[in-house]
Amino acid sequence: MPLALVILGRQGSGTGTQAALLAEHYGVVHVSTGDMLRAAVTAGTELGLRAKAAMDAGNLVSDDIMIGIVDERLAADDISTRGVLLDGFPRTTAQADALAEILGGSGPDLAINLDVPIAEATERMLGRGRDDDNEEAISRRLELYEAETAPLLDWFEARGRLTVVDGLGTEDEVFARLSAAVGALP
Ligand code: ADP
Repeated sequence: MPLALVILGRQGSGTGTQAALLAEHYGVVHVSTGDMLRAAVTAGTELGLRAKAAMDAGNLVSDDIMIGIVDERLAADDISTRGVLLDGFPRTTAQADALAEILGGSGPDLAINLDVPIAEATERMLGRGRDDDNEEAISRRLELYEAETAPLLDWFEARGRLTVVDGLGTEDEVFARLSAAVGALP
C-alpha cells in the first residue's frame, strides 16, 4: 500500500479544501466520506436514503454503514496504486480500529489535525451556506466532534501518527504547513 493519509479537523476547519490540494500535489486519491454521502443522497441510492436523516440532523451516520463504504472504496485499484488521503473518516475510534484493519498493520502513515478554533470554524460554516449549515445543525456537529472525534487525536497520538497543523491563515499558508508535514514523512 502506498501513502495513506488522514486529515482531521472540526467542521469548518477547511479539511475539504486542503485535502483536495494535498491529494493533487501528492498524486493520491482524495476520499471524502461527506462527498460520497452527498452524492448518494443526490442520486437517491439506498445508501443515500439511509444516510440522509442523520446528515440533515447533524448526526453521524452509523459506524457499520461508514466502515462498509470505506472498506469497499479502499479496495479499488486506483487506491492500491496511488495511495489515499481520507477526509471525514475515521470519525470515531471504532472507525479508526476498522481502518487500521483495512490498511493492515497499524493504520495510516500520518493523521493531520487541522486546528481551527471553534469560533472561527462556526463563522466559516455560516458563510458557506451548505444545506446542513444552519446554526442548530452546526452546533450539533461541533458538539459531536468534541465528543466522538476528538478522542481520535489520542488514538493516533498513542500510535505516534499524529501531527497538528495550524489551520488559521490564507489557503496558501495552510497548504505550505500541511505539505511540510507530509514531506517530513520518512
Ligand atoms: P462536516 O465535516 O461538516 O460534518 P462532511 O462533509 O465531512 O461535513 O460530512 C457531512 C455529514 O456526513 C456529517 O455531518 C455526517 O452526518 C456524515 N458523515 C461523513 N463522514 C462520516 C463518518 N466518517 N462517520 C459518520 N458520519 C459521517
